Amino acid sequence: MNIRDSRINYFHSKYSHVYIEKEASQYPLTLKILKSLPQSNIIMIDHYKDVFSRDRQSYDRQSKSQNLILAVKKHPYLYKGSPLCHSFGYDNFFYTSTILNCPYGCSYCFLKGMVPSGNLVIFVNYEDFFSSVAQHLNRHPVYLSLSYDTDLMALEPLLGYGEKWFWFSYEKPNLTIELRTKSTQINFLKSQPVHPRLLLGWTLSPQSVIDTFEKGAPSLKMRIEAIRTVILMGYRVRLCFDPLLYFPGWENAYKEMIDEVFNGLSSNEISDISIGAFRMPKDYLKRFRRSSDDLISSFPYVVKKGIAAYPHEIEIQLIETIRSHLLHYIEPSKIFTLHK
Ligand code: SF4
Repeated sequence: MNIRDSRINYFHSKYSHVYIEKEASQYPLTLKILKSLPQSNIIMIDHYKDVFSRDRQSYDRQSKSQNLILAVKKHPYLYKGSPLCHSFGYDNFFYTSTILNCPYGCSYCFLKGMVPSGNLVIFVNYEDFFSSVAQHLNRHPVYLSLSYDTDLMALEPLLGYGEKWFWFSYEKPNLTIELRTKSTQINFLKSQPVHPRLLLGWTLSPQSVIDTFEKGAPSLKMRIEAIRTVILMGYRVRLCFDPLLYFPGWENAYKEMIDEVFNGLSSNEISDISIGAFRMPKDYLKRFRRSSDDLISSFPYVVKKGIAAYPHEIEIQLIETIRSHLLHYIEPSKIFTLHK
């Protein structure tokens, strides 16, 4: 099959094609994934970029019938956290990408502007990521975001990466890991002890936003149910209202969502809350706009210091309105806001 014929991506169901770097073919995770997908067509390739970085791909169309690319990541394995993200006061904030792209396809996602393809790259050499973290830990504590530019937990049934990171970090007192998700894939936590330095975070949006901009992601009710379940296990949970979107009726939609979230949740069950309005590096915006045509992509953002964001007065209005409503439920010291 000609890997340059991108039409093969568009007319098949999810994971109908699995591209495998020759070097990745014998890794245990590759074999496990292939066992779970016996119907998929297998195509051997030299390098994941031969497929992932081709010209003229359609992110949106590919992400609707996503294919997998199994690859071996090379150095570097860890990156310094971006100033566009909350560091929650941690000094050594790093992120890692064991996956490129995301199984969900939120229409406001910065990945649309960042990566050339809607397909999913899975790096199967997770032991190399662990070694790199261990080297950092020899020098300093690490706060590591595992779902910085994907939703790792959503892929837990296929990959088991949440569980692997859980046990790698469990007995490392200077390693704190964050798993942020929109998913409900929490089964891997059920039979484990409570991990004292695993921060579980859920990104929450009003149901109207989920219906319009987060197609394919679990409903607000299902996310709240997952949050309640992990709280019952003994975890405190991080809530992320980020990115806040500006649309007709936003104020009521966000306030009603917050009331629904806190119906039955108490402040001491929440570790912290992050709030941020929609923003994106300006360099991503052009490609982002090419791949979608909606309320989010067509907004006339202002660019400051290389970041496209809402005009200052809208951003402040979004953040302060949500923050003051949250203060009905939670103390101010637990709320982290990101202003651009
Ligand atoms: S869950 Fe996050 S990373 Fe995944 S598509 Fe949505 S915004 Fe992007």
